[in-house]
Amino acid sequence: MGTPLESREDQVAEVLDRLSEEYPDSSISLRYSNRLELLIAVILSAQCTDERVNAVCADLFEKYEDAADYAEADQEELAEDISSITYYNNKASYIRSACRDIIEEHDGEVPDTMSELTELAGVGRKTANVVLQHGHDVVEGIVVDTHVQRISRRLGITEEETPERIEEDLMEIVPRGRWQAFTHLFIDHGRARCTARNPDCSDCVLEDVCPSSKLDSEVDLASGEVWS
Ligand code: SF4
Repeated sequence: MGTPLESREDQVAEVLDRLSEEYPDSSISLRYSNRLELLIAVILSAQCTDERVNAVCADLFEKYEDAADYAEADQEELAEDISSITYYNNKASYIRSACRDIIEEHDGEVPDTMSELTELAGVGRKTANVVLQHGHDVVEGIVVDTHVQRISRRLGITEEETPERIEEDLMEIVPRGRWQAFTHLFIDHGRARCTARNPDCSDCVLEDVCPSSKLDSEVDLASGEVWS
């Protein structure tokens, strides 16, 4: 069928209820044991899979234990240590710079506000939201990654196109208490069923409320283009 509920709020509630049943253990999949490790892992995870980041971080976190270790690290050596990660040169440079700022301006502690976090090198609003939510238990926004962006549009929950605009839009219709779960459930669904290129609509728990369902829609609302 693929007919969304009448209001966007109802669509959000229905989708969240169904995805919560489908993915009861939904949570962040990066592995870390303190705020600094979380920050490093999230910076590394941009355009890279969490599995690869976790594999690299297992050794990285043994070698570098605090902000000073990263701040004083040799650029080439740190880049080599993370060389299986996408954009490893840039990310090594971001991490060294962010850790220098953490030492000089925040007494060696990962800051706990959106404005201070986004001033660190390599930290945009998405990264800051993850660090705030999982490192400080502060939920200031909704993390909009590629899965949230794609699936929110496919489900007719938003028509906005950029992560920043999508986040603002979602914050108006998703109950605040579900902001964190929203992201993790959409990421789980994006990995398990609603993949970018080949979503498995015939086996999707949202099929009957999804206006992009390949079973009866010609158009992928995420891209606005005809399904290939
Ligand atoms: S898998 Fe198909 S039916 Fe399910 S949410 Fe994605 S596009 Fe919609």
